[in-house]
Amino acid sequence: MTIHNTLETIGPDQLVDVAGGFGAQLTAGMARARAMGLTITATTNGRHVKHSLHYQGRAFDAAGKPSTMARFYDEMAQTNPTQLFYDPKGAYLNGQPHRAIGGHGDHVHLAY
Ligand SMILES: [Zn+2]
Repeated sequence: MTIHNTLETIGPDQLVDVAGGFGAQLTAGMARARAMGLTITATTNGRHVKHSLHYQGRAFDAAGKPSTMARFYDEMAQTNPTQLFYDPKGAYLNGQPHRAIGGHGDHVHLAY
Protein backbone atom coordinates (compact mmCIF):
# COMPACT_ATOMS: atom_id res chain seq x y z
CA MET A 1 0.00 0.00 0.00
CA THR A 2 1.34 3.40 -0.89
CA ILE A 3 0.83 6.46 1.22
CA HIS A 4 -1.14 8.44 -1.36
CA ASN A 5 -4.03 6.04 -0.86
CA THR A 6 -4.69 7.75 2.45
CA LEU A 7 -4.95 11.24 0.99
CA GLU A 8 -8.31 12.74 0.18
CA THR A 9 -9.02 14.60 -2.99
CA ILE A 10 -9.72 18.29 -2.53
CA GLY A 11 -12.92 19.24 -4.31
CA PRO A 12 -13.28 22.33 -6.50
CA ASP A 13 -15.01 24.32 -3.76
CA GLN A 14 -12.23 23.74 -1.28
CA LEU A 15 -9.62 24.36 -3.93
CA VAL A 16 -11.14 27.74 -4.69
CA ASP A 17 -11.20 28.57 -0.99
CA VAL A 18 -7.57 27.59 -0.68
CA ALA A 19 -6.62 29.63 -3.70
CA GLY A 20 -8.81 32.57 -2.68
CA GLY A 21 -10.23 32.29 -6.16
CA PHE A 22 -13.44 34.24 -5.70
CA GLY A 23 -13.37 37.96 -6.21
CA ALA A 24 -14.40 40.38 -3.48
CA GLN A 25 -17.79 41.14 -5.04
CA LEU A 26 -18.65 37.47 -5.45
CA THR A 27 -17.54 36.70 -1.92
CA ALA A 28 -19.66 39.58 -0.61
CA GLY A 29 -22.64 38.39 -2.65
CA MET A 30 -22.37 34.90 -1.24
CA ALA A 31 -22.13 36.26 2.30
CA ARG A 32 -25.23 38.40 1.70
CA ALA A 33 -27.15 35.43 0.26
CA ARG A 34 -26.31 33.33 3.30
CA ALA A 35 -27.17 36.17 5.67
CA MET A 36 -30.61 36.45 4.05
CA GLY A 37 -31.17 32.73 4.57
CA LEU A 38 -30.49 31.49 1.06
CA THR A 39 -28.44 28.38 0.34
CA ILE A 40 -25.50 28.46 -2.06
CA THR A 41 -26.35 25.58 -4.37
CA ALA A 42 -23.49 25.84 -6.85
CA THR A 43 -20.22 27.63 -7.29
CA THR A 44 -17.66 25.93 -9.50
CA ASN A 45 -19.47 22.62 -9.08
CA GLY A 46 -22.72 21.47 -10.68
CA ARG A 47 -23.68 21.28 -14.33
CA HIS A 48 -23.87 24.51 -16.31
CA VAL A 49 -23.78 25.62 -19.88
CA LYS A 50 -20.47 25.37 -21.68
CA HIS A 51 -18.23 28.37 -20.95
CA SER A 52 -20.36 29.20 -17.92
CA LEU A 53 -18.77 31.72 -15.59
CA HIS A 54 -19.24 29.07 -12.90
CA TYR A 55 -16.21 27.24 -14.22
CA GLN A 56 -14.11 30.38 -13.88
CA GLY A 57 -15.06 30.86 -10.26
CA ARG A 58 -17.01 34.00 -11.17
CA ALA A 59 -20.56 32.84 -10.47
CA PHE A 60 -22.73 31.20 -7.88
CA ASP A 61 -26.32 30.05 -7.56
CA ALA A 62 -28.45 30.68 -4.49
CA ALA A 63 -31.82 29.15 -3.66
CA GLY A 64 -34.44 29.52 -0.96
CA LYS A 65 -37.84 31.07 -0.42
CA PRO A 66 -39.09 32.86 -3.57
CA SER A 67 -39.71 36.09 -1.66
CA THR A 68 -36.15 36.00 -0.32
CA MET A 69 -34.71 35.25 -3.75
CA ALA A 70 -36.66 38.24 -5.11
CA ARG A 71 -35.25 40.54 -2.42
CA PHE A 72 -31.74 39.21 -3.01
CA TYR A 73 -32.16 39.80 -6.75
CA ASP A 74 -33.27 43.40 -6.17
CA GLU A 75 -30.29 44.08 -3.92
CA MET A 76 -27.77 42.50 -6.27
CA ALA A 77 -29.23 44.40 -9.23
CA GLN A 78 -27.67 47.51 -7.65
CA THR A 79 -24.14 46.03 -7.74
CA ASN A 80 -23.47 46.14 -11.50
CA PRO A 81 -23.47 42.35 -11.91
CA THR A 82 -22.03 40.76 -15.02
CA GLN A 83 -24.89 38.26 -14.87
CA LEU A 84 -27.93 38.25 -12.60
CA PHE A 85 -30.65 35.77 -13.50
CA TYR A 86 -33.91 35.03 -11.73
CA ASP A 87 -36.72 34.38 -14.19
CA PRO A 88 -39.63 35.63 -12.04
CA LYS A 89 -37.87 39.00 -11.82
CA GLY A 90 -35.92 39.12 -15.08
CA ALA A 91 -32.20 39.41 -15.66
CA TYR A 92 -29.25 41.78 -15.77
CA LEU A 93 -26.40 41.42 -18.22
CA ASN A 94 -23.32 43.59 -17.73
CA GLY A 95 -25.24 45.75 -15.31
CA GLN A 96 -28.14 46.37 -17.70
CA PRO A 97 -31.72 45.08 -17.32
CA HIS A 98 -32.52 42.23 -19.69
CA ARG A 99 -35.49 39.97 -20.30
CA ALA A 100 -35.54 36.72 -18.34
CA ILE A 101 -33.23 34.23 -20.01
CA GLY A 102 -35.03 31.07 -18.82
CA GLY A 103 -33.79 28.09 -16.87
CA HIS A 104 -33.51 30.14 -13.68
CA GLY A 105 -36.92 29.80 -12.10
CA ASP A 106 -35.83 28.17 -8.85
CA HIS A 107 -32.53 29.88 -8.08
CA VAL A 108 -30.72 33.18 -8.47
CA HIS A 109 -27.56 33.13 -10.55
CA LEU A 110 -25.03 35.89 -9.85
CA ALA A 111 -21.73 36.51 -11.58
CA TYR A 112 -19.16 39.30 -11.71
ZN1 LIG B 1 -25.68 29.67 -12.19
